[in-house]
Amino acid sequence: MNRAMRFRIEPNKEQRILFAKTFGCCRFLYNRMLTDRTLSEMTGERIKSTPAVYKKEFPWLREVDSIALCNVQLDLEKAFRDHRKMPERGYPRYKSKHHSKRSYKTNLVNDNIRIEGKKIRLPKVGAVKIRVHREIPDDWKLKNVTIVKEPSGKYYASILFEMPESENQANGTEKRYLGIDYAMDGLAVMSDGTRAEYPKYYRKSEEKLAREQRKLARCVKGSRNYAKQKCKVAAVHEKISNQRKDFLHKLSRKLANGYDVIGVEDIDMRAMSQSLHFGKSVSDNGFGMFRTMLTYKLEEQGGELVKVDRFFPSSKRCSKCGKIKEDLALSDRIYRCECGCELDRDVNAAINIRMEAARLRAS
Ligand SMILES: [Zn+2]
Repeated sequence: MNRAMRFRIEPNKEQRILFAKTFGCCRFLYNRMLTDRTLSEMTGERIKSTPAVYKKEFPWLREVDSIALCNVQLDLEKAFRDHRKMPERGYPRYKSKHHSKRSYKTNLVNDNIRIEGKKIRLPKVGAVKIRVHREIPDDWKLKNVTIVKEPSGKYYASILFEMPESENQANGTEKRYLGIDYAMDGLAVMSDGTRAEYPKYYRKSEEKLAREQRKLARCVKGSRNYAKQKCKVAAVHEKISNQRKDFLHKLSRKLANGYDVIGVEDIDMRAMSQSLHFGKSVSDNGFGMFRTMLTYKLEEQGGELVKVDRFFPSSKRCSKCGKIKEDLALSDRIYRCECGCELDRDVNAAINIRMEAARLRAS
C-alpha cells in the first residue's frame, strides 16, 4: 500500500535555478518526444526514442536529473495508452511553458534520495531544506519524489512511501459503527450527535480571498501590479486549500481511529452543486476529499467506508421506530415522531445512515 505526503521545501537560489532548468528540460523532452512519436506514427517508421538519444543531440539535457527525464518518457507512454483506451479524451497535448504544471518526478535508486533531519537530498540538486511537519514512520519506504512549484512561487516535495501491510484489527471484537450526514451549511453531522464544521479561520481566509480578487479585478491586465496581485491571490488560494486539507486530515484521522465502519450517503457531488445554489461549500468538494481521506485511513486500519444508497430515506425515517414521515419539510430542523422520538433532523439522518451501513456490512 502506498501513501503520499507533501512537504514544503525551501530551495536556495542555485537550487531554484536547477529546478527551473529541470522543469524546462522535462517539458522540452516531452514535447520533442511527442512530435517524433507523432511523425513516426504518420510515416510508419519506428524510431527508438529514449532520453539517451536526445541527450546526444541536446547535451544540456545532461545537466538535470536523468531519472526525471526517464519519467517523462513513461508519462508520454501513459498518455498514449490512455489515448488508446479513451480516444474521446483527445490526442496527447503539448506542454505549455505558461500553463503546464511546473513539476518533475524522480525515483529512489541506490539511496540517491534521503531525508536527513531538516534536509532532503535529491539527485543533482543536493540537500534542500524541507519542513517535515509530520512524522514519517520508520517502516515506511520512500519510493519517489515529485518536486512542484506552485503558482504562488512556493515549492513542495510530494513524497510517495510504501507502507507495510496493515495487520487487520483483532477479529471477534465488536465493530464500532458511525453514520455521517452531510449538512449543506456545515460539513457533517455524526450519528453520535457531534458536528464537524470548518473552523472560523477558514471563513476568514475566504473573505480575504474575495478581497484580493476584487483588487485583482481593478488592476490593469498585463501590468506589473496585475502580476503581483495575481501572485497574492494564488497564495491565498493555496493557504485556503492547505487549511482545508489540514482540517479534513485531522477530522478523518480522529474518526478513523474511533470507528471501524463508517457510513456516508453516496451523493453525486456534481449534480448537487449544479442543482442547488449552495455553491461554494459543495463545489470546493471538501466532502469528496473528506470521503477519500476517510476511505484510506479506515482501510489502513482494516476498517471500511460504506456508501449508503442516496435514495435511502435517511431524513424521513424515524431512527427509533422506523416509521416514514412523508410530510417532513426542509425547514423542519427537529424530527418529531408519534413514538415520542425527538431528534435534531441531521442527527436522526446520521443514525439511519449508521444503521443502514451496519445492515449492508452484515449482509
Ligand atoms: Zn418514531
